[in-house]
Amino acid sequence: MFFILKKKSIIIFLLCILAIGVFCGAYFPVKVSTSPKPLHTIVIDAGHGGIDAGSSGKTTGVKESDLNLRYAKALKAMCEDSNIKVVMTRKDENGLYSPNASNKKKSEMQKRKQIIDNSDADLVISIHMNSFNLASCKGAQVFYAKGNEAGKNFATSVQSFLHDGFSTAKQTASIGDYFVLNCTDKPAILVEFGFLSNPEEEKLLQTDDYMKKMCYCVLGGILEYYKV
Ligand SMILES: [Zn+2]
Repeated sequence: MFFILKKKSIIIFLLCILAIGVFCGAYFPVKVSTSPKPLHTIVIDAGHGGIDAGSSGKTTGVKESDLNLRYAKALKAMCEDSNIKVVMTRKDENGLYSPNASNKKKSEMQKRKQIIDNSDADLVISIHMNSFNLASCKGAQVFYAKGNEAGKNFATSVQSFLHDGFSTAKQTASIGDYFVLNCTDKPAILVEFGFLSNPEEEKLLQTDDYMKKMCYCVLGGILEYYKV
């Protein structure tokens, strides 16, 4: 009960921030820099990029790599509004690999790890869209690396917020064997926001409202993990 109340209060807190932001943007267009120094830093990793588009939507042809970047930028803005410093692995549509690399997949994996290692981040979030050969599969799912207890706690917090916000989202986080999770000891999660192989989700994932709500749920999970 306490947990549910606390989550509700975080959501109300986030909505207040959004309302204040809209009000201030409309009436006080001059930005005043009064924010305290950020207490936390996170890495936001937009999956794929460049020649690696990831999966794609069957109906609209949307590329996973493009959607990942959109979600990464939306989440970055929300985190910064909550005074969390953000390090992005990928800031545009280009891949992270070196142009001259013979093995571009290996090159981009090394670059992602290097950015995570060189950051002073206390959390890592990798952003992806899912795909499966069964079109009925849908829902957001959060993964963490086997044996990373802090990662599991972080994943559980984010999955719980997503489940509260979306009836289609999975109830529990799962172990995932992904390079971006295995390459670091930091608490790291990989969020699959939905299935591009499901025609309904393919459309929803591309709308701003759906994206913002998804990202707010992730932010709720971050703040709950930090116990703001
Ligand atoms: Zn992916």
